[in-house]
Amino acid sequence: MSDADQFEPGDPVKRYPRVEPPVQHQPEPGLQSRMTPVPDLGEESYRGLGRLTGRRALITGGDSGIGGAVAIAFAREGADVAIAYLPEEESDAAHVLEQVRAAGRTGVGLPCDITDPGACRRLVADAVEALGGLDVLVNNAGKQLAVDDLEDLDDEQFEATFRTNVFANFWITKAAVRHLPPGSAIVNTASLEAYQPAPDRLGYAASKAAINNLSKGLAQQLAGRGIRVNVVAPGPTWTALQVSGGVSDEQMAAFDDENTYKRAGQPAEIAPAYVFLASAEASFVSGETLNVNGGMVTP
Ligand code: NAD
Ligand code: MG
Repeated sequence: MSDADQFEPGDPVKRYPRVEPPVQHQPEPGLQSRMTPVPDLGEESYRGLGRLTGRRALITGGDSGIGGAVAIAFAREGADVAIAYLPEEESDAAHVLEQVRAAGRTGVGLPCDITDPGACRRLVADAVEALGGLDVLVNNAGKQLAVDDLEDLDDEQFEATFRTNVFANFWITKAAVRHLPPGSAIVNTASLEAYQPAPDRLGYAASKAAINNLSKGLAQQLAGRGIRVNVVAPGPTWTALQVSGGVSDEQMAAFDDENTYKRAGQPAEIAPAYVFLASAEASFVSGETLNVNGGMVTP
């Protein structure tokens, strides 16, 4: 964990040490608290400046990893936060909600399975009720399973990846949009994989490219309603996704070597991009993808 805040100047390559993870496995979706080392969500470091004062945000996959770091950052910037996660992730969610409440903001946990369209609609309704409205939506929940051969990639897994990463994004956004007043922001989550698909992540990488594309179309459609739509595309970041089937053992062991910095990112380093895109500072930014990936060059 770093305790220097995100404004600390210095060499970005050395901002965090290499993770050098021991090879480890958990069933999906994985508990962050059981990882070695535990990812850094900015608990000791994120310093808010009131950039989201009074905003009401729903963050999917907000129990852990990037979504967890976003929830903590948003709360420290003054937002009330509802997080969605799978029921088996309750303990990770409790950790994030404790951080949100410690920042003096409302923190609401909404366990659900977003592969079900009805659950997505209920999720939005519950968030709106609990927060008294909604003006920021972060679609961040994701599924990633590495499979070497196309012939071993079963139809159900391919479909489940798209349901989680793309269809749920569509269902949740569609249900949320009527609640979003002008000035609201939607931030979606793509990946470096959208541009550089790993050969063993066909469904995942294609789903991330779809999110980029969907967001850019929607940004144009929603501009007339005063709603901005943007994307964060993280690069290799140390999270539960990796230890629950997201990468092969070889890639996990070499996880730090997958980017220009030669170290994995921490969720705490991805969260500020979401803060920027959610805040009114980004008023002239819509339909954009902000790549946060340790110096990898993307189109
Ligand atoms: P993570 O495992 O900490 O978070 C993913 C979350 O998705 C889980 O915590 C879970 O709550 C949620 N989720 C998955 N399936 C769900 C379902 N059916 N219903 C409800 N919630 C569900 O891992 P992360 O890396 O922080 O992932 C967050 C996002 O970042 C994902 O969209 C992922 O694709 C993206 N991303 C991650 C990396 C990386 O290297 N970690 C790189 C690029 C993009
Ligand atoms: Mg989780």
